[in-house]
This record gives sequence, C-alpha cells and structure tokens, in this order.
Amino acid sequence: MNDSFRAAAERSAAIEARIATDPGSLRMLTGDRPTGALHIGHYFGSIQNRLKLQSEGVEIIQLIADYQVITDREVGGDIRGNVHQLLLDYLASGLDPERATIFTHSAVPALNQLLLPFLSLVSVAELQRNPTVKEEAATAGITSINGLMLTYPVHQAADILFCKANVVPVGKDQLPHIEQTRVVARRFNERYGATFPEPGALLSEVTNLLGTDGTKMSKSKGNVIELRMSADETARKIKGAKTDSDRKITYDPDGRPEVANLLKLAAMCEDGDPATIADEIGDGGGGALKGRVTEAVNTYFAPLRARRTELAADASIVDEILVGGNQRANEIADTTLAEVREKMGMSYP
Ligand code: ATP
Ligand code: MG
Repeated sequence: MNDSFRAAAERSAAIEARIATDPGSLRMLTGDRPTGALHIGHYFGSIQNRLKLQSEGVEIIQLIADYQVITDREVGGDIRGNVHQLLLDYLASGLDPERATIFTHSAVPALNQLLLPFLSLVSVAELQRNPTVKEEAATAGITSINGLMLTYPVHQAADILFCKANVVPVGKDQLPHIEQTRVVARRFNERYGATFPEPGALLSEVTNLLGTDGTKMSKSKGNVIELRMSADETARKIKGAKTDSDRKITYDPDGRPEVANLLKLAAMCEDGDPATIADEIGDGGGGALKGRVTEAVNTYFAPLRARRTELAADASIVDEILVGGNQRANEIADTTLAEVREKMGMSYP
C-alpha cells in the first residue's frame, strides 16, 4: 500500500464515520462513462456505497460523463443508447430519482466552463504524470494522447466541484483524479478566496474487481459481467474466467489474484468470508469454484435483474428523469459559475 493510497483510505474512513454522525454535511457526486452498461465491478466498487449514502440521507448527484467517452476513442458509439442503459442500471440498483439528481454533463454549459479557470491552475507536467490516464491510453492502444484525454482529470474536477461535492464513491483507478480535484480546489481557494471543499473518495472493500481476463473489469475491455446479463450469460462468462492450474483452492490475494478475485466475489454475494469459501471448495478445483461463484452472483443479482426488465418496458421513464436532472444540475452550475466569476473579478453588468 503506497502513501497516497493510505492517505485516501484514511480520508475514506473519516467520511464513513461522518455518514453515521452527520450525513447532512455531505454531498455526493459520482460519475460513469456511457461506454456500455454497468458491470458488477461498478456495483461492488461504487454503487453499493452510493446506495448507502442515499439511504443515510446524503444528497446524491449522479453524473453521466458523456464527453469523457471521446477521450480514448474517436467514435463514441451509441452514446444515447448507453445513457439509457446506465439509467436503467441505476434505477434497478435502487438509486431513487426523487432523491438523486441524475444528469449528463454535456447538457450543463456552466459546469463545462469551470474547466477554463481550473486548467490555469494545473501544469502540463502534472497532467502528464497521471498514472490512470497513462494506463487507460495503454489499454486503448493510444500512442498519441489527445488534449481532452490529457485534461479530463481537470474536467472531472469541474464535475465534482460544480456542485461543491465533498464525497465521491469510486474505485481505485479514480484516486489520482480525486487528488487532482483536491489540488484544483486548494489552489483556487488560495488564489481567489475560500470557494470549494476538498472532496474525499469513499472507497469500498473491493476497489478493483478483476474481469474474466484477470485485469481490471472495464466496460471497454469485454471482460465484464454486466448487471443486466441473464443467468446463462453469467454462467458462460464465469466459466471462461482466468484461474490457475492448482486444484486446491486457497485464498491468496498476492500469489493467486484471479482465484482470490473469484472468492471475494462469491463472498460479497453470499455475505461470507473468502478464506472460508476456499476451505469449503478445497480440492474441487477451478470448476467447483466457478460453479459456486456463478450460483452466488445469479442469486444475488436476480431481484435487480427482474426490476430492470420491468423498468426497461417503459422507455419514457428514463427521458423524464434526465429532463429533471439536467434542469437541476444547470441551476446548481449557474450558481457556482456566478460565484466563481465574482471571485475572479469577471462579473459584469
Ligand atoms: P470504461 O472501460 O469505459 O472506462 P469502466 O468499466 O472503467 O468503463 P467507468 O465508467 O470508467 O467504468 O467507471 C465508473 C466508476 O466505477 C468509477 O468510480 C470507477 O472507479 C468504478 N469502477 C470501474 N471499474 C471498476 C472495477 N473493476 N472495480 C471497482 N470499481 C470500478
Ligand atoms: Mg474507466
């Protein structure tokens, strides 16, 4: 565990404590790219925490980061269709549109305008050092990073700070971006006067669920188990998951990451313990492990999947939620941008 991860984990624990004692002091923002439907990595890495915050009465602002789609690819694909799928996933998971603002950032001009002053607070060298941007570029096979990709962590600072959010439930890949947001907030406040909070990440137990190929589960990689998949599709995916040749199943996250990942997944779905599950499987090998995981995942997600099928029958629900969410996000962003202009001496009659 490196120092910056430790610091983020400590902040996350402090937020955790505050959820219990003072939920009204927290405002949550988090986002997903509309590059496909949500997968179980999202669910255990972030959505469970969003739902917990919602049920504790924290204000929930849920962003769909559509401009971020064209950071690591030239063609966005069916963005509108993917936004629709994401919304169905949110609703089926339990996000409540009565309590949560759900919006697409391209529909909020004042949010995007914050990018200009924020970019002036960050050096090119700093942007070029961001490890997640480098990794995503490598995954996408990009050798020449475009300007939007280089600067999207600052765009993300605008996403978080436009509503002055102070808690962001995310997976481990997002920590460099949260750190960048904290730096932007701090520098803005130093230069122009106290304006923005320095937000903290809320981390889950599973900060990096691996996909079927043994690398981070990601929509763009085809290594996912989607929330919306059928039980049969799920079984096929898990059957193809990478394991190792040792028939004795043991829980060893460092030595056997793929096997440990499957054990952890079963444990989360069964509300059990990965080492105990490993003992129970014993010499059963990869086949028995995968059978257990498939059963656990399908049982856990069955109610969510049934809800999703019902919701998908009425396309108008999604459109109505977006109209309301985008309107509210615009109101918040307009207020923040007016304050920013005032502080910067750019407020004109
Ligand atoms: P893409 O491949 O298009 O980047 P993605 O699967 O990485 O898609 P994002 O929309 O980039 O998904 O991420 C949304 C949120 O889900 C972020 O907070 C991210 O940290 C979290 N997340 C994504 N993948 C995982 C994972 N495998 N484990 C835990 N959290 C994850
Ligand atoms: Mg991603």
